[in-house]
Amino acid sequence: MIPPNIIEDIKFRNEIESIISQYVVLKRAGSNFSGLCPFHSEKTPSFVVFPGTQSFYCFGCGAGGDVVNFVMRTENLDYVSALKTLAQRSGITLPEDTEKDRVSGVSRQRVLEMNIEAAKFFRSMLFDEKVGSEAREYLLNKRKLPMAVIKHFGLGFAPNVFGALHDHLRKLGYTDKEMVEGFLCTTGKNGSVYDLFRNRIIFPIIDVSGNVVAFGGRVMDNSLPKYLNTSDTPAFKKSKNLFALNYAKSKCEKMLILCEGYMDVIALHSAGFENAVATLGTAITAEQARIFSRYTKKVVISYGVFGQQNDPLDSSCPSDL
Ligand code: ZN
Repeated sequence: MIPPNIIEDIKFRNEIESIISQYVVLKRAGSNFSGLCPFHSEKTPSFVVFPGTQSFYCFGCGAGGDVVNFVMRTENLDYVSALKTLAQRSGITLPEDTEKDRVSGVSRQRVLEMNIEAAKFFRSMLFDEKVGSEAREYLLNKRKLPMAVIKHFGLGFAPNVFGALHDHLRKLGYTDKEMVEGFLCTTGKNGSVYDLFRNRIIFPIIDVSGNVVAFGGRVMDNSLPKYLNTSDTPAFKKSKNLFALNYAKSKCEKMLILCEGYMDVIALHSAGFENAVATLGTAITAEQARIFSRYTKKVVISYGVFGQQNDPLDSSCPSDL
């Protein structure tokens, strides 16, 4: 998938000692460095980094490899995702990201950049004194979410206007085609392009490499559809993603909690269960099951846990929150 010369470039631009020192306190030992092993518990350092060969080895537990192997283990990523993470850290753009999608003619890279702008826009609307007041009231008082949690998940608000995001992205140079292919806007019968997410709380969906790949939007009243989720785009495949896996991936080795909705996950995380994720408005897919097996030994399904009787947040709210 990633050409060998680019893999070499990624490794070259991510010196192993500087990457590992972001996780482990390293002390110089001759031409090498040593520190306490991040992969097993120890009191005297047996973890050594060899700048000469750009590798690491632990004489205590036998863990070893290159910078990619290190990131795979510490960030709980597969090989390609670890390479992508390192590419991002060093400002390398992968060719597959700039390649235009055959059907839509829009690249993954372009959609990801646009999504970051959209997430910033939705967040600024939530914190706009006037525009976001009802949404803030809903999250803080009705849902009882602490401000720190709202910020941690990067929640936002899509105003009840047809052209709010469209105008904003237009000014930043994004085309109608990019907005439509990225599932932020849609085309009306008369050919005009307008915002898909309106008057909704916005949940950015972030992949394990930290990209904003999609959005979920939830209404604040009983109007329908209750949830609006990004469908497949050049940057997103619904069946292969889980909400909050970017946070849960390093906390779920023993057990992963699988919920139905965004609010379930956010409520669990704020109660200290950072190993909770949600499927994105679909049944569990085979791809998602493969993701589970990569990160955890045990999955606890917690659908409808906040049922009508014991909903701790809102007794008028149906079981899917
Ligand atoms: Zn070790």
